[in-house]
Amino acid sequence: MKMDLAILNGFLFDGTGNPAVKMDIGVHNGHIAKIGRISKTEAEQTIDAAGLAVCPGFIDMHNHVDNGVLAFPSVDSYIMQGVTTSVTGNCGASMAPLDNETIELSRRYLAPFVPSSEKINWKWRTSAEFMRVIQSNGTAQNLAFFVGQGTLRIAVKGFSPSKATESEMERMKSLLRNSLDEGCFGISSGLIYPPGSFTDEEELLTLTGELAPKGAIYATHLRNEGNLLSESVEEALEIGRRWNIPVQLSHHKAVGRPNWGKIHHTLRMMEEARTEGIDVCCDAYPYTAASTTVTSLLPPFALEGGVEETLLRLQNTDDRQKMAREICRKGCSWENWIAGAGMENIVLSDCSVRPEVEGKSLQEIVDVFYPGREVFDGLFDFLADIQCLAKMVVFAMDENDVKTVLAHPLSCVASDSWASTPQSGGKPHPRGYGTFPRFLRRYVLDSGILTLQDGIRKITSMPASRLGLQDRGLLREGFLADITLFDPDRICDCSTFTDPHRFPEGIPYVIVNGEIVVNEGRLTNKRPGMILRKV
Ligand SMILES: [Zn+2]
Repeated sequence: MKMDLAILNGFLFDGTGNPAVKMDIGVHNGHIAKIGRISKTEAEQTIDAAGLAVCPGFIDMHNHVDNGVLAFPSVDSYIMQGVTTSVTGNCGASMAPLDNETIELSRRYLAPFVPSSEKINWKWRTSAEFMRVIQSNGTAQNLAFFVGQGTLRIAVKGFSPSKATESEMERMKSLLRNSLDEGCFGISSGLIYPPGSFTDEEELLTLTGELAPKGAIYATHLRNEGNLLSESVEEALEIGRRWNIPVQLSHHKAVGRPNWGKIHHTLRMMEEARTEGIDVCCDAYPYTAASTTVTSLLPPFALEGGVEETLLRLQNTDDRQKMAREICRKGCSWENWIAGAGMENIVLSDCSVRPEVEGKSLQEIVDVFYPGREVFDGLFDFLADIQCLAKMVVFAMDENDVKTVLAHPLSCVASDSWASTPQSGGKPHPRGYGTFPRFLRRYVLDSGILTLQDGIRKITSMPASRLGLQDRGLLREGFLADITLFDPDRICDCSTFTDPHRFPEGIPYVIVNGEIVVNEGRLTNKRPGMILRKV
């Protein structure tokens, strides 16, 4: 019997961190059938991989593909990078579970992230139902899900900033248990975003106790990545300590010039926590700019009650003064992007209601479109005009920090982006198109801070083992055939801040569950992706 596919003459990196070996690999029925010497006649189809690195498909430990995969099931921006599996539902914002009473609030919460939100039929309620909707719509990538703590809290108590009562706690716990039973790999929190920012340490500790029986992961966008970075890492470690569960610090970085270098301390904290028995790791993207929604510019009180109430406050003189005072206050405890980066370093990336501002900094927007207005008045006018519907890119990190985190043994790599295609518009952060080739080109092959086999391990077996995947992340006979082929001489990211919708180069073949999704550098538009469930 012939195998479906043979990849011949390539340099096999098995994903363990072992050096490459010249070897062939055969694929049959979606699985890796043989690794060794294979002749052309043994397979229906062959790929000549001479000069190419053949490695397990890349696994993105942290992104938001779940928000866009219904609109863009081909997930072009990821597939072209060689990313065969995405871990989604991050930063506290998953698409499920939803509740009939609060679904409109959930939709508004998720709207900035969900392309064509109005065209999607939001009929699912549970995580299992959402997984089924995606599967029947098709996906080019495999997807693994976290439950968002913010989504859970909205389902139970909307955008109320008040402390959860005992019965609300019980409801959140039971929704979380259901989602874990349905195959979610853990919970994510986004503690700068309401309602995550309304959630105190005690509530988080109580809720995350539900993860312990399953050994599920607590992944967190920390409460503060700037002034209070270390304190925020400690808050996350305490959860790992209390429940003996794995902790994943998402997109680890130090935001704002005064905080640059703090990651040396937080990486040490992580090392020490591990000696204490806390299984903590982090992930990071290879850029010095962050990206998030424009509502994050405002202090927490301005976000209470949901977007509608925020829009009212943006019109109210007293609230405006209070917001401006909070933003200017020294040493505040919330993630204050304007104080950390400056208005000139915050650039609008996606604003479909007003595309002319895309690519402009907040400072430019105020100067050009609100001339003569006092700076905060101009800013608040603008946010009200666009109904807070935009994303932004914030240049706020240090290159040395990025390098230090990526080189550290406790980090894997993540894009923190969403599904894009060249048709999806806007000027999104280039990490959505470039994270993995950029990591390999700039931080592995060119700077040499990691060997190629180590770099590959960080984007294959390391995330797979974090998730407990038993049959992905390595090239092994019997494993699912998620395989990425790249040319070490040519691989590079092409996406930039000014011209983001550009695919990388040097990744000619990508295979998902045995199906070729990129062939000779072109998308085949197949959708062989599976929903992965925690066992
Ligand atoms: Zn985040």
